[in-house]
Amino acid sequence: MSTRKQAAPQRLFLDTPVTYLKGVGEYRANLLRKLNVITAGDLLYHIPHRYEDASTVAPIATLEPGMQGTVIGRVISKGVLPTRKGLRIFQAVLRDQSGLIEVSWPGQPYLDRSIQKDDVLLVSGLVRFFHGRQLQPREFINLGSEETGDMRGRVLSVYPATEGLSAKVIRGIIEQHLDTILPVVNEYLTPDVLEGAGVPGIRDALRMVHRPASLAEAMQGRSRLAFEELFFVHLLHQRAKSLARETRRGISFTNRRTLTTPLRESLPYELTGAQVRTLREIFADMCSDRRMHRLLQGDVGSGKTIVALFAALLAIENGYQAAIMVPTELLAEQHVLTMTKLLAPFGIAPVLLTGSLPAKERRRIAALLAAGEPTLVIGTHALVQQATAFAKLGFVAIDEQHRFGVEQRKALAAKGEMPDVLLMTATPIPRSLALTLYGDLDLSLIDERPPGRQPITTGMRRESARTKVFAFIEAQVAEGRQAYVVYPVIEESEKTDLKAATTMFELLSTGYFPGRHVALLHGRIPADERDDIMRRFRDGQVDVLVATTVIEVGIDVPNASVMLIEHPERFGLSQLHQLRGRVGRGAAQSFCILLGDVSPEAGERLKIFCDTEDGFEIARADLQMRGMGDLFGERQSGVPTFRVADPLRDEELSERARAAAERILASDADLTQAAHAGLRRVIGERYARSMELFRVG
Ligand code: ADP
Ligand code: MG
Repeated sequence: MSTRKQAAPQRLFLDTPVTYLKGVGEYRANLLRKLNVITAGDLLYHIPHRYEDASTVAPIATLEPGMQGTVIGRVISKGVLPTRKGLRIFQAVLRDQSGLIEVSWPGQPYLDRSIQKDDVLLVSGLVRFFHGRQLQPREFINLGSEETGDMRGRVLSVYPATEGLSAKVIRGIIEQHLDTILPVVNEYLTPDVLEGAGVPGIRDALRMVHRPASLAEAMQGRSRLAFEELFFVHLLHQRAKSLARETRRGISFTNRRTLTTPLRESLPYELTGAQVRTLREIFADMCSDRRMHRLLQGDVGSGKTIVALFAALLAIENGYQAAIMVPTELLAEQHVLTMTKLLAPFGIAPVLLTGSLPAKERRRIAALLAAGEPTLVIGTHALVQQATAFAKLGFVAIDEQHRFGVEQRKALAAKGEMPDVLLMTATPIPRSLALTLYGDLDLSLIDERPPGRQPITTGMRRESARTKVFAFIEAQVAEGRQAYVVYPVIEESEKTDLKAATTMFELLSTGYFPGRHVALLHGRIPADERDDIMRRFRDGQVDVLVATTVIEVGIDVPNASVMLIEHPERFGLSQLHQLRGRVGRGAAQSFCILLGDVSPEAGERLKIFCDTEDGFEIARADLQMRGMGDLFGERQSGVPTFRVADPLRDEELSERARAAAERILASDADLTQAAHAGLRRVIGERYARSMELFRVG
């Protein structure tokens, strides 16, 4: 590692472009830009995503197939191998004092240019058996050829890298300039915030994360950076929320009980305690003069629909119109069907509004809505289309809210005069996390399921049991039940050996279930055909439905008793949970079977899923293992991305950050005090678009 002293440039600022730094020319600057590093300040905040220290390194001889390992060894041979499928694999053989191991990088032939014979590599990954032991790298660092391989007492920072610019080069650049850039950073958190959080100041923290003396120190530095991310997000959320409170005037409904109470009395079941509590929260919002903006969370099958219906009735008994938007036509039909039955005694007929209605019917409904008739409308995104004008929309529920884009949700909420809005989601996330992610929403939680549900028997079966598993499904079908068989991909591809829905559909319909009705469902089938297939499945005309995850959304087929999932390791636990929620809806015992040979690591993960039906526990485990991106559809929900913080793992830090943000805003809502100039500056730099939340100082 380079320890050469550099003469500091004349004047260095955080916004000095990296090209002015020694060792960074145009070429590297262009590569750094791919990592969003443009200035000296960006470089300073380019934080290691991982550390390696001597305690994690194992002698090569001790690695066993199936385990995760980290080794350090010298490259004694290397080369690029072509494979049958046209994929090129870079391979190297590493040696340490204890032995040899082959390391294989499929699809990365370019590594042949950056890794040389005699280089010392630190590699971590899964050890598997393939003509001998082979290491499949998850990550690696090239320590260069001078490295002795003696790592004792060393903590190595591993940086996010990009093709052509290795973590090693980045570490070199940062190491070289750290001491000159650090003094330019000024603390922006106030002393009391820092003290309350129990985290180091910014200069110390940055030194600790880049050049830690120990792993513990690296974590201490990281905690500061995580804290400030959470702190700023809370600050902006809370500010947005209090501004919204000031301006968010809405309709004040009156709880007349002319419809809600009769419905409650005529329901074939008692509401659960959780349904009653969330309804109380929703009614309080709707009866206040503030506009409701509430997220209703509840696991699959927890009974969110009926809660939305009560809220809709409150609007209707006040002479307003209510709309419930769902992601598919089939769901809309299903809701209309059940609600028509429930509401018939009160002379209310819910109206279905979808894109496939005949134009004449659509015009009829449009006229009805324009006339301001108090009506309950259930529909798809056709609801938001311009042509549908509600004269008196007072309440909007958006089911499976993550299925809609931000724009669609906004468009529906913008109809009428400030309707109250209820978003519904089956992704149960811990409250503290939800507050961090969706700070500007109020939250209601259904944390209890309707009584009397049969547990679903869930299990993993190996490839060798395939024939038995399908025989079991055949037996279920023979008893009159129906089954889902789910695959991760639609079509087979060169790059993977994944079983795919289309090819397996052929095989299943001819090979395993020759006398049965087997249907295929996936995302490339047009939406109306898809709905048609689901309809036939619902009506019992299809016995086995071969599908991709398109069936995830809340469809209700009580007669389906088996959910078979192939390549279960390809799905997130929450996704598996959603899939499993498609069965166990009727009186019959239901089964969820995960089929395939998975790695021991994946097996561990899947075991969590097999052992519990608690959506919260599953979501939490999923978050811990997969990160949050896929779970929340980050890009479309507008949730800020965290670079260092992990709102779930850093739950306690997030709580401290929330409290600190609250204290600051309580004393200085506009952040105009001189002591808060640093905060203003950082908000301006990092969250420029949120700056409008604060008046100009
Ligand atoms: P989700 O929260 O997944 O949308 P649903 O609203 O579809 O769940 O409800 C699932 C099923 O539970 C429906 O068949 C519904 O009629 C039933 N249900 C809802 N609430 C209760 C209750 N309190 N007691 C018994 N069954 C209920
Ligand atoms: Mg639902």
